[in-house]
Amino acid sequence: MSLFSVPITNLTGIGKRRAEQFYKLGVDSVGDLIRFYPRAYENWSEVTPIASVSHGERYVIQGTIAEAVKTVRLSGGRFMCRVAAYDDSGYINLVFFNNKYIPSMLRYGETYLFYGRVQKEAVGYQMTSPEFSELKKADAITPVYHLTEGLNNRMVIKAARQALSQLPEVMNDPIPYEILKRYDLCTLSYALNHIHFPADLKTLERARKRLVFEELLVLNLGMRLLKSRVSEQTSIKLEKDYSGEFFATLPFELTRAQKNAVVDCVNDMMHKTSPMNRLIQGDVGSGKTAVCAAVCYTCVKNGYQAAFMAPTEILAAQHFDTFQKFFENTDIKIELLTGAMTPAQKKTARERIEAGEADIVIGTHAILSESTVFHNLGVAITDEQHRFGVEQRSKLASKGEKPHVLVLSATPIPRTLGLIIYGDLDITVIDELPPGRTEIQTVLIDSDKRERAFRFLRSQVEEGRQCYIVCPLVEEGESELTSATDYAAELMLSHFPDIPVGILHGKMKAKEKDEIMRQFSLNEISILVSTTVVEVGVDVKNATVMMIENAERFGLSTLHQLRGRVGRGEHKSYCILVSDNKGENTQLRLSTMCRTTSGFEIADMDLQIRGPGDFFGSRQHGLPKLSIADFSDTETLSQSQEAAKNLIEHSPDLSDPALRGLRAEIKQLFTDTENTMN
Ligand code: ADP
Ligand code: MG
Repeated sequence: MSLFSVPITNLTGIGKRRAEQFYKLGVDSVGDLIRFYPRAYENWSEVTPIASVSHGERYVIQGTIAEAVKTVRLSGGRFMCRVAAYDDSGYINLVFFNNKYIPSMLRYGETYLFYGRVQKEAVGYQMTSPEFSELKKADAITPVYHLTEGLNNRMVIKAARQALSQLPEVMNDPIPYEILKRYDLCTLSYALNHIHFPADLKTLERARKRLVFEELLVLNLGMRLLKSRVSEQTSIKLEKDYSGEFFATLPFELTRAQKNAVVDCVNDMMHKTSPMNRLIQGDVGSGKTAVCAAVCYTCVKNGYQAAFMAPTEILAAQHFDTFQKFFENTDIKIELLTGAMTPAQKKTARERIEAGEADIVIGTHAILSESTVFHNLGVAITDEQHRFGVEQRSKLASKGEKPHVLVLSATPIPRTLGLIIYGDLDITVIDELPPGRTEIQTVLIDSDKRERAFRFLRSQVEEGRQCYIVCPLVEEGESELTSATDYAAELMLSHFPDIPVGILHGKMKAKEKDEIMRQFSLNEISILVSTTVVEVGVDVKNATVMMIENAERFGLSTLHQLRGRVGRGEHKSYCILVSDNKGENTQLRLSTMCRTTSGFEIADMDLQIRGPGDFFGSRQHGLPKLSIADFSDTETLSQSQEAAKNLIEHSPDLSDPALRGLRAEIKQLFTDTENTMN
């Protein structure tokens, strides 16, 4: 039986209340607990002489208790224990709160190891509530776990020890022996024991390496299985390139980069035996939609249908409008299919799609439903692909008879990550913006200057322009609805009583949102107050100001997306970031926004500040959540990639019985994603 189906309440000392605390950490079973790896380690073997400590840092010191512990009563029934300790080099004060066992645990004249942060006080250096251990008993390295209210590190350590003791004597290793040998990896059982309780740094490293390798291998294999269609043949071959015909109907000339992108796609669809599998990466505003339209046009003219999937209702509706304008003077029939439509509307749309009466289908993930059947789908396009899970993306590709696949992204990603996420996707980069764009001027202000900012917005509106305000994020316990509407009401009352203000938030029905967006695009609304629902793709050329409250709370890539909503037309545009946070990281992040408008530079900076783990953890790419791997370890990354490739070559669907363990892990990793994504 799998330890993942043994509830943690089976462990001694874990009752209902304690179990609730573990659930909060995502730990439900004994198996989960074993996979609940420490977030850090205290190294008790690295002792610092007391005289060498400095303020604010964490140390292990070896101190002998210099006196009897003194207990001091504080208000509210609280109390404090205080004692001095020394080593050969000096003295330090130790302070503990509300722990009545301290006087009996720290005995006069005995020596202990203490671990904690050192502060400089008037009377000298002090450690507050340090961890401590008797000299002989100290494990060299102690795990530090993520905790939750009521659950301390010692409790998790105890539970983890117990969980590990339940591992079977002889464990089946999911990684075949040849691979372990080839990459010099330890066994799973060794790795699990030592990731929690390593004997020393070397064993810890060995354990970690094995677990990272395993996780990346599983991820790699999963992605390869999802993409194995790449090696398939497709019967959908376009005969003729009609894109030039389409270009001629456009009111603008496509940029060189846009044309190249179209050429890449059309070549794939005309000359390759396997389906196109291409990613177009282009910064916000680089004109990816027109490229798609050209691809769709060519496909339709060759007798096939095209599908274009967007992550939100608003965006789907907007693409629908744009396409209708693009194809105004043609006989191409465009169908909208979104979740917000009534069942009857959806039914009619699906009938037209199945009968081949619709040429281009634009929609949200309603397109993915079983009941959407295409007549002859030629190309499936996903916009803003990072918004979708990997599963969803491949679902679209599985519609019809091996259609060509195109995905669009405005999020630049680091190369190592790209190798995994996009593996064998071909990539086209759109590296220029349409001409005539003026650089967006970005300023960072604190809330004192908000009044001035509002006056600036007014002056823009008086010149006929429009503005976005992204309102403050919801506070705990407050609903998005009240926070957005309160903010908007206040604005209208005290600043813009004579100006039409609209409001857009996530709790609104799709119909209501569409109506607001329609009014905004017709300039019936001058100032649009919104939560981040406006973030992706929205295109209103007359909008020139993007003001973002609580700017520090957004990731750089989100800020970049938001800012991309302005500067889309001929008018000079502005982005106003409002933040009172003076933290160093925040200032660095926000000033990066002021300095550059290059999406790639911003993504790089994001990566530098937050680190690859975080970048990955933020789930911007719809990948499963990893528990230990990040992408800084490029050696393990490429080893796992090589191993995955060899395994797939040897057993394309991993049906080899020796791979049963890995198959189970792939299933688990990817089902977890589905759960968290939806
Ligand atoms: P994104 O790449 O962010 O999806 P869009 O496709 O929404 O960008 O295009 C941004 C704006 O630029 C749209 O209003 C579009 O009509 C316009 N546009 C696209 N290509 C060109 C071009 N070659 N010349 C001028 N304007 C263009
Ligand atoms: Mg777009």
